[in-house]
Amino acid sequence: RFITLEGGEGAGKSTQLRRLADSLRVSLRARDVELVTTREPGGSPGAEEIRGLLVTGETGRWSATTEALLHTAARRDHLERTVWPALETGSWVLCDRFFDSTMAYQGYGLGLGRDLVETLQTAALGGFRPDLTLILDIDVETGLRRAVARHGGEDRYERMDIGFHQRLRDGFLDIARQEPERCAVVDADADLDTVQARIWDTVAGRLGL
Ligand code: C5P
Repeated sequence: RFITLEGGEGAGKSTQLRRLADSLRVSLRARDVELVTTREPGGSPGAEEIRGLLVTGETGRWSATTEALLHTAARRDHLERTVWPALETGSWVLCDRFFDSTMAYQGYGLGLGRDLVETLQTAALGGFRPDLTLILDIDVETGLRRAVARHGGEDRYERMDIGFHQRLRDGFLDIARQEPERCAVVDADADLDTVQARIWDTVAGRLGL
């Protein structure tokens, strides 16, 4: 099984990913199944190098199209080197961000549009899709307040205008509406334990744990 976790800035994704990984490991141990956790952009040596170009790059270094291509190239390497080999041995894989982030950030946020991003993913990955995608949803003001409190507004996306973050959120919600069997939206506007419980209920329910 391949599970991905998505969300905009300040949705609490990293914390929830660690908590979900802990719960999944406990549950999977009983079935003698291993859990591999990984992240995008990155997750393999080559993809981590590409991440360096993207995440530490100056705003405006890449056009939105080039950015989407770099994310997609990194994703292909990550799948070939990390995700597919793990799935092949029967492990489950939990990934921090996946192609829905490219759709939301570059497709919706930066305005590339759905068609181009969709075409790139199909060309690079074939029809490969996660079994379950959790989308942590929080209103834009609350999310940004949390993110800036943590990073001090250093992250280049934290400096983007509020409209960008609104498009990002709407993008994720659109994706969830279009693929309701794959995606589950989790309301992240609550304390950590509450959000963790919501996530676990969703995962356990959808994947029969
Ligand atoms: O997951 P995290 O929030 O740490 O993401 C790392 C960085 O990459 C963030 O600044 C995120 O906004 C950005 N990103 C992006 N386009 C993607 C995926 C992530 O700009 N497709």
